[in-house]
Amino acid sequence: MSQREKDQYQALKDAKMDTLAIRAGHTRSAEGEHSEAIYPTSSFVFESSEHAAARFSGDDEGNVYSRYTNPTVRTFEERLAALEGAEAGVATASGMAAILSTCMALLKAGDHVVCSRNVFGTTTNLFLKYFGKFGLEVTFVDLTNLDEWKNAVRDNTRLFFCETPSNPIGEVANLKVLSTIAKSCGSLLVVDNCFCTPALQRPLDFGADLVIHSATKYLDGQGRCMGGCVVGRHEHISEIVGFLRTCGPTMSPFNAWVFLKGLETLRLRMDAHSENALAMATWLENQGSIEKVYYSGLDSHPGKALASVQQRAFGGVLSFCVKGDRAAAWRFIDATRICSLTANLGDVKTTIVHPATTTHGRLSDEQRAEAKITDNLIRLAVGLEDLSDLQTDMIRGMEAM
Ligand SMILES: *Cc1c(COP(=O)(O)O)cnc(C)c1O
Repeated sequence: MSQREKDQYQALKDAKMDTLAIRAGHTRSAEGEHSEAIYPTSSFVFESSEHAAARFSGDDEGNVYSRYTNPTVRTFEERLAALEGAEAGVATASGMAAILSTCMALLKAGDHVVCSRNVFGTTTNLFLKYFGKFGLEVTFVDLTNLDEWKNAVRDNTRLFFCETPSNPIGEVANLKVLSTIAKSCGSLLVVDNCFCTPALQRPLDFGADLVIHSATKYLDGQGRCMGGCVVGRHEHISEIVGFLRTCGPTMSPFNAWVFLKGLETLRLRMDAHSENALAMATWLENQGSIEKVYYSGLDSHPGKALASVQQRAFGGVLSFCVKGDRAAAWRFIDATRICSLTANLGDVKTTIVHPATTTHGRLSDEQRAEAKITDNLIRLAVGLEDLSDLQTDMIRGMEAM
């Protein structure tokens, strides 16, 4: 590293989020490139056998093999950790790989997890179907009912897991209180921060131990790549790195580079998503054929006060119930012309989906009722298109009901 580069690196230690999002973690190659380089290489060469031995023993910290470390991936890890206010981070092949790796590295058979009921459906499936097979126990609780969290704790409880705000009805977890309960029973609080990203919410500031991301969503922001990340303290991240090096669900250098470009505009996009979503939620609430709107930025939402403390804004995802049945909800969705009918979210393109028959279709009727996923519920992940065009699209839906 040149002296100027070392000085720049030093200056970033005190930098604010908008600067970190654009510059943190970047070290230039000998070519002096201004934009971050991609290193699409599976392995790295050594100068001599002695040098190779030093790399393998760890005396020399350079790269060996991209399942271990890769410069582009490392830059992404450092940048996201800086944005979340974390000591360290590790990137994974997807958001699910981040959750898998965290649990595999930090838990063992016989341990118990308390998890909020309304997490991402695949997360629920991972806990029940796969971790269950290896003797990990899990209790699902209501995200907002703190007594349920307390009462679920057992002698072998080691980890609390939640998402806030929740998908799709935007319930908000009290992170400060949850982290206190977790600490008092020797458990780690792990927060899936997909919906807010560090641009809107930093769970570590409220006492969480680890933050998980599906980078596939807002970190990329344009629906191009799969990826994930975990950030937190060195002691935990190094355990997770150990699991990844052995088991292999690492992030590709190309994807890391796309996510780096995504992070550069993250705050601008999240603010714009939030602005569009709040305006859309407010407008939908006043439409005669809409029964109810769920968005934590609305005065009518019970989570608004808490979200206002924990979050800078309310994010891009809202959901609403139409006045009608499942068939009416389907007709609404099918009549839209701008929205993409897809289960993904966190994209500049607005996406619309019917949770009861897609993302939450695997739940039992009872579980769906508990999660308030009614047949007339529609989820909208509001993108960055012109608001009036999106409203016109909603009118197409309402007229078709
Ligand atoms: C999509 C998503 C995941 C899983 O991430 P993948 O990148 O699809 O593996 C986890 N949590 C939340 C909240 C998600 O939306």
